[in-house]
Amino acid sequence: MSEAAALADMFVFRLMFRLYWLPVHESRSRAARDSGANSPETFFERKRLLNAFAARKYPLKLRRDGKAVAYTKYLVISALALDTIGGACSALLDNKCGIHDRRPLSCRSVPFHYSRTEASGAADLTAFVATKGYECDTSDAAPIVWDSGRVIDADIAAARSQALAVAQQDRRWSDAIVRRMNAKSSASSSLPSVDEVEANARLGAMTTSMQVAWRIAADAGLIAPGECDRLVAAQLDAIGGELARPGCSQEARRTLGDMQAEYRQHLNGGQAIAMSA
Ligand code: SF4
Repeated sequence: MSEAAALADMFVFRLMFRLYWLPVHESRSRAARDSGANSPETFFERKRLLNAFAARKYPLKLRRDGKAVAYTKYLVISALALDTIGGACSALLDNKCGIHDRRPLSCRSVPFHYSRTEASGAADLTAFVATKGYECDTSDAAPIVWDSGRVIDADIAAARSQALAVAQQDRRWSDAIVRRMNAKSSASSSLPSVDEVEANARLGAMTTSMQVAWRIAADAGLIAPGECDRLVAAQLDAIGGELARPGCSQEARRTLGDMQAEYRQHLNGGQAIAMSA
């Protein structure tokens, strides 16, 4: 979320809610395989990452192979940059990154996204290299970035560590958001409850307006009151930029139009907000 504030002039953001499930105990059971943790290393690293990135965790029991299995449900709250042209990043200029010096940590940690385990690096790298449109150097002369379950590229490793530090720094902010989700007052009606996030989990992540997060941050004293308006104004400029891009999809145009109306209303003193799955 901090990164979204720093890049509000560049990308259009939504506040995203996503749930993850992981068995409490590592095992070679179907439960562990279902969770994507197919080795003890992956399991424990995944657990460590979810503990670091999740805003809340909840115990629950699920039936697997006829037995009750103890799981932990993790709620992750983050900022999602809207993809308006099917994968063509808004910062791409003449096939180069136009914001290279301040590109997001997700880009700095490519191809080992900071939310993914190092243990699954080989599979991630293979999938990345195979992605259509990417021009990865796989020659013998290419630098070695991953070896024996560890990311060894210093810049990528630093970006992964920095992402954990930013998550820690955002902890008070996500705590304040969760408190509003639990309160479910009319003032926070634009936020989903955890049950609503869960009901939509099969459809993917749930998103709502990023300005909700900024208002909560301002109310909690985490940002200056005027900062919320500055960020909303920056988003209005970014929305205008996206709408002007040739190739911006019809679906994206609808979302951007709704956001534009909502943000203008905010700057004029109103607070209408839309939520979507
Ligand atoms: S590195 Fe690529 S995806 Fe990341 S901001 Fe730059 S152009 Fe966009």
